[in-house]
Amino acid sequence: MKQIQPAYRSKLAIAETLAALGARAVTISAVAKTVPADSRDIYKQVNNALSPSGQTPKDHQWFLANRTRRLHGAALLLLYCTYRSGYQSMAPHDAHGLAFAMSLMTYRELNQVPPDGEPLVSPERFSLLVTNGYQFGWESIIRGAASNFVSDNVKVMKCRSCRTPHLTEAHYVKYECSACVEAKEARSAL
Ligand SMILES: [Zn+2]
Repeated sequence: MKQIQPAYRSKLAIAETLAALGARAVTISAVAKTVPADSRDIYKQVNNALSPSGQTPKDHQWFLANRTRRLHGAALLLLYCTYRSGYQSMAPHDAHGLAFAMSLMTYRELNQVPPDGEPLVSPERFSLLVTNGYQFGWESIIRGAASNFVSDNVKVMKCRSCRTPHLTEAHYVKYECSACVEAKEARSAL
């Protein structure tokens, strides 16, 4: 039997959790740092099917298309930041994978997604946002630091009216969400 190093065993365990959450093999490798062949095997074992092929999302601007996506993006990033802070000192090498899996699990529960259902934000989109967007400086998500995409960066910022954290374009100094803008317009039209 192949000898598995303890450091890799923890990554396989994270990979299994991610597969159960519906993450594709390519996302599993990116987050859990398992080799692609292992990620594919684990996906197959857990889901009884081959991991879907095809492109994973590349456009993080998807999160900015409407208020619900902005809210979900911000909630996921804040959950991630909280979990990651907790895992960082005890398991620094697995902290990203553990925090990613825990955030997704909590997100599914909060949105009451059934076991075979799909949440609004898929593991692939969440990975694009946090694995790519905050590969540096995740600690500062909670302080409103901008992501580190090549262009069109984003950040978590509270709406100035309803005080709810939204995902916003990085250039905003003050942000007002679409619901608050609409409410204000409705009042002024009376
Ligand atoms: Zn608002």
